[in-house]
Amino acid sequence: MAATDMEKIVSLSKRRGFIFQSSAIYGKLNACYDYGPLGVEMKRNIKDIWWKSMVQEREDIVGLDAAILMHPRVWEASGHVSGFTDPLVDCRHCKQRFREDEIDPKFLEKRQCPRCGTVGSLTEARQFNLMFKTHMGPVEESASVVYLRPETAQGIYVNFKNVIDSSRMKIPFGIAQIGKAFRNEITPGNFIFRTREFEQAEMQFFVKPGEDENFFEMWKEIRINWYSRLGIKKENLRFHQHGKDELAHYAKAAFDIEYKYPIGWKELEGIHNRTDFDLSKHQEFSNKDLSYFDDKTRERFIPYVIETSCGIDRILLTCLVDGYEEEKLENETRTVLRLDPKIAPVKAAIFPLVKKDGMPEYARKIEKDLRKSFMVFYDETGAVGRRYRRQDEAGTPFCITVDSQTLEDDTVTIRERDSMQQIRIPANGVRDELRKRIWE
Ligand code: ATP
Repeated sequence: MAATDMEKIVSLSKRRGFIFQSSAIYGKLNACYDYGPLGVEMKRNIKDIWWKSMVQEREDIVGLDAAILMHPRVWEASGHVSGFTDPLVDCRHCKQRFREDEIDPKFLEKRQCPRCGTVGSLTEARQFNLMFKTHMGPVEESASVVYLRPETAQGIYVNFKNVIDSSRMKIPFGIAQIGKAFRNEITPGNFIFRTREFEQAEMQFFVKPGEDENFFEMWKEIRINWYSRLGIKKENLRFHQHGKDELAHYAKAAFDIEYKYPIGWKELEGIHNRTDFDLSKHQEFSNKDLSYFDDKTRERFIPYVIETSCGIDRILLTCLVDGYEEEKLENETRTVLRLDPKIAPVKAAIFPLVKKDGMPEYARKIEKDLRKSFMVFYDETGAVGRRYRRQDEAGTPFCITVDSQTLEDDTVTIRERDSMQQIRIPANGVRDELRKRIWE
């Protein structure tokens, strides 16, 4: 996919109701997006699959849903108040803003603006804190400042003891959470790749110091393989190891899972060895004991943490990019979103071949029955070929058509999106057939 093709994803997303620019009728709010009828389904499917594999299927991980607003001391302890900054530079000439760490060194040397080309026009970097600040209660004073969380992880650390005490989890174990995060990014963009409000799916795995490196390797493997479950092509994924200069203040080691986007290889998920940094800091700042007592070895220690952290919006974008294809057929080109059936917003569309002879009524009965199990869509307008194309573009994996033969022998055709092949099956077997093809 070429860089310009990101535009095609943006346009398809809007046209078909996956993603809209926020507050568009008021001229938009930059770097914020809304999910439309198809987008919201797809997002829910992605979150469900993450939750299923990270919580439901694992006896060593439990879930959590912490509040977005937290005590301001949390962000002092975590280092975000002092250190969650990006170096901001301005071009005095064209007024464009940049993150200094994103500017090509050959421009930086001459303080040259990468946009307008003016030499010597870049200001010195100012450290800009990415946390959104707001006030709690009616008085806007410094004592009432609270932050919108820039990551979900801290909600997990401050509940570490609560979870242990209530669930009796034993190390090694993890706590997982999906929730909104907010960052006042200097250079948001590339559609939903980098936004100011986004959703994260994070898991913190607590381990005994010394065992961290093995668990780090384990989670790297689990997480990169997880993307196959979403149908992402393996050749578009790779690891990138953070060098010493890239490592966050808390990390002993970090790997990104990168995806080959139209804009190049970029981070999709981060896997970090956060050591005992976070729990130790919260212990220090809160004066509460956050150590763990291992009753088998009779040892007390602050656990190390292996974190897996991904953005749900970024995963969704990845699935759209990975699945998008303009396929050349004999007489036409069809746009098809080859989404894995598990994440496809609509699982099946039901069509009467024509709008007469009792076919719509028959198709409606099938639709009603399928609705109990899946998101489905009924369409009787226009030629059936065009209806197929509309569903191809929306990523719907199956189309079920009621035709004149249906009325004679109670069979329907089921057409598969990717191969466009059709088979005929008994109408009362559609539900099982779909279930098999979606989940097995
Ligand atoms: P960067 O250095 O690119 O700003 P980061 O390394 O700080 O990002 P993390 O803090 O590791 O990012 O965030 C974990 C994950 O959350 C990322 O891999 C990404 O999927 C997602 N994410 C982070 N920031 C954003 C954002 N502004 N918009 C959408 N998703 C984001």
